[in-house]
Amino acid sequence: MSTTVANIDTKQSKIPKTCKAGCVVNAGPDFKIAVEDVPVPEPGPNEILLRLNATGVCYSDLHYMLEDLPMPRMSDFQCRSPGHEGAGVVVAVGSNVTNWKIGDRGGVKPMWDICMNCELCWDGKHETYCAGAVACGLMVAGTYQQYITSPARYTTRIPDNVDDFTAGPIMCSGSTIYSSIIASELKPGDWAVFPGGGGGVGHMGVQLAKAMGMRVIAIDGGAEKRALCEKLGAEEFIDYTTVESVEAEVLRITSGIGAHGIFVTTGSPAAYKIAPMMVRTGGRVMCVGLRSATVGADPAWFILKNLHVIGTMVGSMKDTDKALDFAARGLLKPTYEKFSINHLPEAVQKLRDGKVAGRCVVDFNA
Ligand SMILES: [Zn+2]
Ligand SMILES: [Zn+2]
Repeated sequence: MSTTVANIDTKQSKIPKTCKAGCVVNAGPDFKIAVEDVPVPEPGPNEILLRLNATGVCYSDLHYMLEDLPMPRMSDFQCRSPGHEGAGVVVAVGSNVTNWKIGDRGGVKPMWDICMNCELCWDGKHETYCAGAVACGLMVAGTYQQYITSPARYTTRIPDNVDDFTAGPIMCSGSTIYSSIIASELKPGDWAVFPGGGGGVGHMGVQLAKAMGMRVIAIDGGAEKRALCEKLGAEEFIDYTTVESVEAEVLRITSGIGAHGIFVTTGSPAAYKIAPMMVRTGGRVMCVGLRSATVGADPAWFILKNLHVIGTMVGSMKDTDKALDFAARGLLKPTYEKFSINHLPEAVQKLRDGKVAGRCVVDFNA
């Protein structure tokens, strides 16, 4: 499906015929990923071609490769490279494109494109749920591939003072948790709890909630994650590996009545199980992290406490812009560990082993 770029005007930018890409060799529970040389694609009339400098490695990429979610598979779309947190520079523009020029900086999000012609796309809240949305790194080549095309109308502009290693992880994890915090309707001074607060999505939630004036309780395991969460603004940290009862600790901190919102950024079944017990009457359980967990509790918890359980998926164009704006003001800084493209498989394995504090980011130029 990819063609080379021999017929593109390359006056300002040397575009190679092939580029490096992290490609799935065999999908499924024993998936393997290898770095291969693949053809550089040609942008369609309404697309731009980006040369990525950075991509984050998100747990959703692993789900796509593991094929453990009830949804279409990468192989159904002949897609071999996952990834949806890319940041780079425009190196070619399609014939109809007038709003981007070579040299502009652009970012790619979990949704590569949406239809822009349905109620969900118009209501200002649900564009990423559009039935016509195209998932990046699932239905089209994702950001594990250095040169990718992106629709001119749905590519995100990166502010000047936000570097690509910061912008990359904000494309998914930063904007994802931003959208969840907005949907929770929590107010300044409210208690916000982040199970998985030291993880890729959680550690950005801690910073954003703090920046919005909320009081943050982070839950995670180990000294490294404690240090990270406290540095990023968590008022309290609960180490689930050392306390007897996480929910009792949350209740103790919140004067015995629970928090206003719980943002479950981990897929941990344990976190989802106790979330309803940590929230106060009228509070919100925000579902963000995916796995085969159940938001598990006796319905009495939901009835007697008027609980709201709200799921949010990924950030919209606007959410991503807003999250980048927090970064531009120095209020959101992803913590990341850099890997060269040749070491991408190690970054994936590290995430799979649950050993990442913050985010793994691939540096395509290393
Ligand atoms: Zn993601
Ligand atoms: Zn739509």
